[in-house]
Amino acid sequence: MSRVIGDIEKFVHEWAPKGSAQSYDNVGLQIGRLDRPVTKVLIALDLTPLIIQEARELGAELIITHHPLLFKPLKSLTGSSLVSSMALEMAESGMALLSAHTNLDCARDGVSFELARTLGLSDVEFLSGLEETLFKLVVFVPPERAEAVRSAAHEAGAGQIGKYSYCSFSAGGTGQFKPGSFAQPFIGEAEGPIEKVSEVRIEMQVEKWRVEAVLEAVKRAHPYEEVAYDLIPLSQKSENVGLGAIGWLPKPLVLDDFLNLTSARLNNPALRFAGHPSQMIHRVAVCGGSGSEFIPLALRAGADAYVTGDISYHPYFDVLGTDGQAKMALVDVGHYESEQMTEDLLVARLSAKFPDISWNKTRLRSSPVETWVRRST
Ligand SMILES: [Zn+2]
Repeated sequence: MSRVIGDIEKFVHEWAPKGSAQSYDNVGLQIGRLDRPVTKVLIALDLTPLIIQEARELGAELIITHHPLLFKPLKSLTGSSLVSSMALEMAESGMALLSAHTNLDCARDGVSFELARTLGLSDVEFLSGLEETLFKLVVFVPPERAEAVRSAAHEAGAGQIGKYSYCSFSAGGTGQFKPGSFAQPFIGEAEGPIEKVSEVRIEMQVEKWRVEAVLEAVKRAHPYEEVAYDLIPLSQKSENVGLGAIGWLPKPLVLDDFLNLTSARLNNPALRFAGHPSQMIHRVAVCGGSGSEFIPLALRAGADAYVTGDISYHPYFDVLGTDGQAKMALVDVGHYESEQMTEDLLVARLSAKFPDISWNKTRLRSSPVETWVRRST
């Protein structure tokens, strides 16, 4: 079955909704056209000139990266900087670029879940749900149309709570209204008396990026000229999208052994950390990429160790107790190293969905950062 780039983008955004990306981010199709056919795809964490060359040799029509190429607005496409040069080369070669960045970071089974699995953690959950993402939609419908409206809302993505979907609550009651002069009411007539009718109150949670589609579906299925509904922001955190991940090692390890395991699994010969080599590690929090800001979340969640990248000097002090000892081990494994497994994750997920397309993980290491380990003398 022939596929176009838009099919791939749609699937990625069902898994990692575009609207769940951080506001500063730029995700989705960056270069190319949604209606172009695609048979071969190259997947890499970053775009580099060598990765573009690899894609060309492969004959790929699409490159999928985790980190977006186009992040800050470009004023020209002249090849005068690395970013504009690569964007121009991609466009000239007719190759498309799709990026799934912070939307994949905060997706269930996204970047941090994959990092947790790579470290062998079990019972993995979000370190914290994402705030300000949930709404409650309440809609009032005549009983004979309740099922149609409920189904339309669910089909558009309303009512997903954690591992459950199609979640809603319905209760019967009496609604009332008085049609105005220009109304064309479903029940009663224009300028008629106050009508009292049986209605069903249907309520369900909706994530902010699905609100528009859900309301459109509800209005299409609803018989009333003016649909009565409430859209209420909820203060609880989403269970479907979140920050970082936390889980359990199969058995407790001393920090020294945990660092050895982490170094091996993430293929990084040198790790920076705070903690005592003999302290016990069982519950482990992780965040792919730059996760320093979630150190307080990991401490609050009772993690014995927190693994992330890009930890600068001062945050290491945040894990120390009043005795100066680390309450929680803090481990910097490197930004690239904490996210490199995203390439395998994307290949696995996309090849399962689109088996007719050739999915290829880059053979290159896209990080420009190397680790120097002193020669033994
Ligand atoms: Zn990153």
